[in-house]
Amino acid sequence: MNVTSISANLNAVQQRIADSSAAAGRAPQEITLVAVSKTKPVSAIEAAWQAGQRHFGENYLQEALEKVQQLHGKGIHWHFIGPLQSNKTRLAAENFDWVHTIERIKVARRLNDQRPSALSPLNICLQVNIDGEASKSGISPQQLPELAAAVAPLGNLRLRGLMAIPAPDNDPQQQRQTFARLAQLLDNLRRQLPDQHHLDTLSMGMSGDMDAAIAAGSTMVRIGTDVFGKREPGKQHHND
Ligand SMILES: *Cc1c(COP(=O)(O)O)cnc(C)c1O
Repeated sequence: MNVTSISANLNAVQQRIADSSAAAGRAPQEITLVAVSKTKPVSAIEAAWQAGQRHFGENYLQEALEKVQQLHGKGIHWHFIGPLQSNKTRLAAENFDWVHTIERIKVARRLNDQRPSALSPLNICLQVNIDGEASKSGISPQQLPELAAAVAPLGNLRLRGLMAIPAPDNDPQQQRQTFARLAQLLDNLRRQLPDQHHLDTLSMGMSGDMDAAIAAGSTMVRIGTDVFGKREPGKQHHND
């Protein structure tokens, strides 16, 4: 994928964000595009950066670290969106601006302890298993209030909101209803924790369901394929 096509893809995705938010009566600036660059080379990120993209999402820590180091000083906001094991938290705490996938208090406490004091608090989202799938990451909606209450006081973290990866579904109506449930959970959380002033984030929507997510209130869409093209199967680093 060359520089021109990545730039054209970014324009097309931004146009879709504009169209979907207009249809929902929302301002496009309410939605941050996180370009998901997992398995893609540094050159692809540089091409997107030249086109003005500043938020990037990565799933595999080892792979991400090389990119973070090589692109240091470019003002990139790095989002960790993959499963995070508790023995890898230090790398995330030191190198990322956001972690979207918090599902255990133990991981949150380690990130809080390991966040360097020279950096601003680490932005985090709690990942919800919104469809109750046995194989999926994330906590259940029932466990969410307890986890949120435990995470909220951690001073080196900033609890920003919720993230979910719904079960695949091609029906936009269904997609939207699922995302609306996550939006409702964030509303509940705001009532539960009125002194948390940064609960402003719904990290939901990927290439296949971005428009439904925006209709349901997404503030952060995580787009890989529609920005960088298809990923090669087998190119993922599952040992992370
Ligand atoms: C890979 C990935 C994405 C991007 O998916 P696309 O369908 O390629 O847009 C978004 N979020 C998470 C958590 C991912 O792992």
